[in-house]
Amino acid sequence: MGMTGNELEIIMNKQKAYYVSGVTRSLAFRIMMLQKLYDAIEHYEKEITDALHKDLRKPPLETYVTEIGFVLSSITHTLKHLDEWMAPEKVKTPLHLQPATSMIIKQPYGIALVIGPFNYPLQLLLDPLVGAIAAGNCAVLKPSEDAPHIASVVEKLIDRTFPSDYVTVVQGGKEVTTTLLAAPFDYVFFTGSAAVGKVVMKACAERLTPLTLELGGKSPVIVDSTADIRKTAEKIVWGKFLNTGQTCIAPDYVLADVSIYDQLLDEMKKAIQRFYGKDAQKSPDYGRIINNRHYQRLANILEQDQLYIVDGGRVDAEDLYIEPTLLALPDWNQASMQEEIFGPILPILPYESLGLAIQQISALPKSLAAYFFTENEKAADHFIEALPFGGGCINDTISHAGNIHLPFGGIGPSGMNQYHGKASFETFSHSKSILKKSTAVTMSVSYPPYKGKLSFVKRFIR
Ligand code: NAD
Repeated sequence: MGMTGNELEIIMNKQKAYYVSGVTRSLAFRIMMLQKLYDAIEHYEKEITDALHKDLRKPPLETYVTEIGFVLSSITHTLKHLDEWMAPEKVKTPLHLQPATSMIIKQPYGIALVIGPFNYPLQLLLDPLVGAIAAGNCAVLKPSEDAPHIASVVEKLIDRTFPSDYVTVVQGGKEVTTTLLAAPFDYVFFTGSAAVGKVVMKACAERLTPLTLELGGKSPVIVDSTADIRKTAEKIVWGKFLNTGQTCIAPDYVLADVSIYDQLLDEMKKAIQRFYGKDAQKSPDYGRIINNRHYQRLANILEQDQLYIVDGGRVDAEDLYIEPTLLALPDWNQASMQEEIFGPILPILPYESLGLAIQQISALPKSLAAYFFTENEKAADHFIEALPFGGGCINDTISHAGNIHLPFGGIGPSGMNQYHGKASFETFSHSKSILKKSTAVTMSVSYPPYKGKLSFVKRFIR
């Protein structure tokens, strides 16, 4: 459903009352709700799979691994650890503040707004929701209007699982999101483009609402001369063409040592054939571009960079199909290097010196991910040290986001704050610091009159 400001006020008031009643706080309630979410996702597995096939032609295996199974295992992990995460953390108290105990108590923010993108439209709404529930919040979810089939399945799933006073879905695009962003939410969790991220942050600035931004960017891959080229090619091709390149942490472009450049190109072509056959359009394992707007954007990049196509390049507007495409680029000045590609087009550029390559990447906005393929430990350490980026892998792509023990998020223009696993619980919790004083003894040295007390104070505070 769409929504007016009045309707939103009603939703917010109901959620506020529900939150203030305190029911969302207990461990038992959180566990019960997470379990309900788990069961609902399992129950709707087929509808989810069908909807994602309609929206993105997402292959069922990808849907299970990156959407359904991803959220299920996140719930499983949370159920297992929630009591320990919720426990107040005792910390020391310095001598001059004694007698007292000190602790950090994790408390929910209140009502959280979660805004999702189109590319992993189930995962990127429901995994933040796992964190919001685990931390004891109420939540409003705003799915992407660009993936309408899954958006309506998510709405149904949430409607039938939770009272709307607790968790609800609001549908709509820019206009509805603008209305939502003006409302007094206690936390905003946004996943999407950097351009909209700025709009979200500005709106949050108005109310000083705390927020998480999960954005994108041009995530680089570097391949040095020591890398295992065949395996490297496979891992890059897999990470790039998964979900038709519409992955926030997909390799955006590759910098390859000039000595292995041709070999890498050759192995990547072979990997594409092994994965998707001679005609990827006929492969059940290759998806489609989300809509005509994005298709046109990508087709436009291809047209401008057509001179450099060394593999793929075929397109079909009716079918929103873009073939897995490799571009052999001589330098950084081409259309495909101007902004995040977010589609199945992969530029590959040669480099002569690793240090220089890292310097060149460093001059660009800090990326969400970065990947380095090498057998050289020292070079790997240098890459990790020298290049700022959200997170990444050595000798793999994408997989760091699948490890629930690793907090996930960007840096600067690729986002702020992190989630996944325990980090999700922490992101949706406020750490309230409490010093609990014993009234048994009062140290009066800190009270006026101060005369003669300074040297004594200096003994404790130093
Ligand atoms: P988007 O920014 O266009 O849309 C995201 C959400 O913002 C949608 O729900 C949309 O309705 C809303 N929105 C759009 N324009 C708005 C406006 N002017 N004001 C308020 N709200 C608005 O992003 P997208 O195209 O759905 O997703 C692709 C982008 O998301 C890529 O840049 C990708 O890298 C990024 N992404 C990041 C992550 C991550 O985890 N960091 C994950 C997936 C995608």
